[in-house]
Amino acid sequence: MSSFAEVFGGEPDGVWYAPGRVNLIGEHTDYNDGFVLPFALAQRTTVTARRSAGPQWTVHSTLTKETVQIDEAAAATPGALAGWSAYVAGVVWAMHEAGHRVAGAELFIDSDVPLGAGLSSSHALECAVLGALTDLSDVDIPVTARPRLVQRSENGYVGAPTGILDQSASILCQAGHALFLDCRDLSNEQVPFDLAAAGLALLVIDTRAPHQHTDGEYAKRRSACEAAARVLGVPALRDVSGEHLDAALAALPDDESRRRVRHVVTENQRVLDTVSLLRAGQLRAIGPLLSASHTSMRDDYEITVPPVDTAVAAALSAGAYGARMTGGGFGGCVLALTDAGAVDEVQQAVRNAFASNGFTEPATFLAVPSQGAGRLA
Ligand code: ADP
Ligand code: MG
Repeated sequence: MSSFAEVFGGEPDGVWYAPGRVNLIGEHTDYNDGFVLPFALAQRTTVTARRSAGPQWTVHSTLTKETVQIDEAAAATPGALAGWSAYVAGVVWAMHEAGHRVAGAELFIDSDVPLGAGLSSSHALECAVLGALTDLSDVDIPVTARPRLVQRSENGYVGAPTGILDQSASILCQAGHALFLDCRDLSNEQVPFDLAAAGLALLVIDTRAPHQHTDGEYAKRRSACEAAARVLGVPALRDVSGEHLDAALAALPDDESRRRVRHVVTENQRVLDTVSLLRAGQLRAIGPLLSASHTSMRDDYEITVPPVDTAVAAALSAGAYGARMTGGGFGGCVLALTDAGAVDEVQQAVRNAFASNGFTEPATFLAVPSQGAGRLA
């Protein structure tokens, strides 16, 4: 593996990092002004960086083994760069847009967050770059303002219509906790989530199912929710509470929109119920909520695919307390909550089920609720 010194020569000014994340529960609730409950992973992206004369930014990634120059014009023009360097240029662009002067820099990027698995490697990259450029430029960007800035980068420069969940998780999460986030006003609470102390483990199963139709289906779900909110006369589906669900469903014109709304409303309630249990230290008891979330995504929101459903079913039949797909859907990762001593059994059951269905072998690891973005050196 290469190093900062090998690529750029000399010593860096510092090392910054930001983690990947998983969402424990609360799927497709973020753009409905609802609730989510992510936590940061131990897997993270690091940016080893040095201020340079500028205004230009030279970035090297150990994953692509490429070094890319981003000049002032490219950083000022959304769409000027394609590929991974757009995530870096987007941060520069969003900082400029927010009125900050951004110092030129050499940035060496390394990561152990799996790419494209739904663990938000793109936000880990952006959040780590933002930390580096903020400090190197001697500007003051409060931590609470950073998620919106990264969202702006991804929406306005990279051109991905992502919500606020991932950036908030990568920046705001604390070790041993999940982040209960209200996506309407970004108010949040750190909820204790110490798996090891409870004798539990959360197995992450990367199904490696190829993502298909992700963007188009995401956009369709989003507009279905917006249309339903208009019919119901509420600003967002967040404003439909559980006790008014039946009346809301009766007011909708078709079965598909009823199913979409039922997912969002019941999912918000499941986040609230999960938070109550975690506050009370009842970690095992969240299992059925995780599984109910999966069923809702499968039957009502229709965003799962066969390998994901197979992983959930196999984990549950091997004794997991609960299991669900995490992330936007159509592939990606499954979470399974198990006793720490039962991890091997659950893992083997999932592998066997994948083999007998002819699916690509899944990758697995244990999720450890970890610290959000910061500076290492
Ligand atoms: P996810 O965020 O779920 O991992 P995305 O498709 O949103 O999936 O983001 C993955 C993209 O982010 C990669 O294709 C690449 O362009 C970029 N990326 C993330 N981390 C790195 C890295 N360490 N080096 C280079 N590119 C990266
Ligand atoms: Mg992403």
